[in-house]
Amino acid sequence: MQIKRLRLTGFKSFVDPADLRIEPGLTGIVGPNGCGKSNLLEALRWAMGENSAKSMRGAGMEDVIFAGTASRPQRDFAEVSILAEQAGGPDEGELEVVRRIERGAGSAYRINGRDVRAKDVGLLFADSATGAHSPALVSQGRIGAIIQAKPGERRQMLEEAAGISGLHVRRKDAEQK
Ligand code: ATP
Ligand code: MG
Repeated sequence: MQIKRLRLTGFKSFVDPADLRIEPGLTGIVGPNGCGKSNLLEALRWAMGENSAKSMRGAGMEDVIFAGTASRPQRDFAEVSILAEQAGGPDEGELEVVRRIERGAGSAYRINGRDVRAKDVGLLFADSATGAHSPALVSQGRIGAIIQAKPGERRQMLEEAAGISGLHVRRKDAEQK
């Protein structure tokens, strides 16, 4: 799966709709402190289903919604869309995953315009060896945590990186039925 575009609306400091195109190869994001570089990575993880407000550097999940500034009022919702290209398999082609949160109403997810559960989004990305907890997404200050991980935790990271953690998620799901 190749992520081609990230689109943010009302997410953290990105109050106006903003597109980040991700071309093949290396993409670098540069800018002064506080310009929103980490917010972009958080938007990616959030749309993939991240459920920890703390890891979004907030007290509650609604803290991802633009909170307003001296000159602009706060927003009532935040929306992040991931456009990806899936090569091979039954879901081959373009894929748009959208997560939206509204004040007082929680989060909703869509895949290619269809309402889905958070779990469906989690499974989709787990099968593609990525997702909100992918070891490929290293947040600021987390490099030390990876180096100091216990063997069991490191095994989980390797399984995720190898793309087999989706199988575990599906097995757990099947066991519960
Ligand atoms: P650094 O180089 O210091 O790591 P950065 O480019 O990673 O900086 P971010 O941490 O992504 O910057 O952005 C922080 C900015 O986002 C701050 O100015 C903060 O006020 C703003 N911000 C975070 N959440 C919200 C929100 N809900 N509404 C409005 N602005 C927000
Ligand atoms: Mg940062």
